[in-house]
Amino acid sequence: MIIQKYLPNLHLPKKHKELDKLIMKNKRDINNIKLFVLDMDGTFYLGDNIIEGALDFITKIKGTGKSFIFFTNNSSKASSDYIYKLAGMNCYIDRDQILTSGDVTIEYINTYYHGARVYLLGTRELEISFEEANINLVEDKPDLVVVGFDKSLTYHKLERACTFIRQGAEFIATHLDINCPLEDGFIPDCGAICAAISLSTGVEPKYIGKPFKETIDMIVKRTGFKNKEIAFVGDRIYTDVAAGVNNGGRGILVLTGETKLEDVDKSKVKPDLIFESLKEMSLYLE
Ligand SMILES: [Mg+2]
Repeated sequence: MIIQKYLPNLHLPKKHKELDKLIMKNKRDINNIKLFVLDMDGTFYLGDNIIEGALDFITKIKGTGKSFIFFTNNSSKASSDYIYKLAGMNCYIDRDQILTSGDVTIEYINTYYHGARVYLLGTRELEISFEEANINLVEDKPDLVVVGFDKSLTYHKLERACTFIRQGAEFIATHLDINCPLEDGFIPDCGAICAAISLSTGVEPKYIGKPFKETIDMIVKRTGFKNKEIAFVGDRIYTDVAAGVNNGGRGILVLTGETKLEDVDKSKVKPDLIFESLKEMSLYLE
C-alpha cells in the first residue's frame, strides 16, 4: 500500500526498476539507524493486546546488533508499570530500556532548576518518581508548577496551579498530548489540563516529552548514540515522527494506530519512512 502511494503506476512493468530502487533505499536508510525509540500504544500494542509481529521486530533488532528503547509521553504511570505490562506480552526489558515524558521532565528540572520548589499536578506514580529523583515537592510558594497526565486531578489542584502561576511560578508540562486514546474513545490528557490553566492564567506552558528537543537530548545523554543514528518509531506524526525529524534524528511512521496514510499528505512534518507495522519494518532489517 505504501509503495503504491508513492509509485501510483506500480502495476506497470516499466516501474519495477523504480520499486526495486525504493526497496533498496528503504533497506539502506533503515540499516543506517543504530537506536530505535519505540512508541508503545498504537505501535507495539493496542490497549492490552500486542500488535501482530511486534515481538518478531524485537527479535530481529537483537539479531542485527542494533538497539531499542521504549518511550511514551504518558506520564500517568511509572516505568515499572510498563515493564510489567510488556513482560505480560513476552517482551522483557530492563529499567534503562523504558523512558517516559515524566523522566525527561525530571532530568530537565534537575538540570535547569536544580533545588527548585515544585508544585506537581500528577498521579501518585509520577509523584513517587519525582520524590525518588529528590525533587523538592511543595504545597506552597513554588518556583515551578509542573503538570502531568493527572488522572487524580481535582478542582483544588487546578485552582492552586492557576494561583501559583499568576503569582509568578513557571509553568512546565510533561507532554502536549490533548487526548489519550482508549479502546472505546478518548480521555482528556495533559494538554487538555494545560489548556484549562492557560485559559485561566493567560500563560502557556513549556512542554517537554515528544516531539521536543529535551527528549532526544536525554536519549543521547543516556545511550551515547548521536542524533542522526536515532529513529523515533510511532503511530503519531506530530509527536513520534516529529521527535526525530525536528531534532536531527529520523522519524518512522507505522500505520497500526492513529495515523492513516492519507494524513501524511496533510501533515507539515513528513516521515522519513512509512511502514504498515513493526512487522513490515523487520523485513527490511538486516
Ligand atoms: Mg502511540
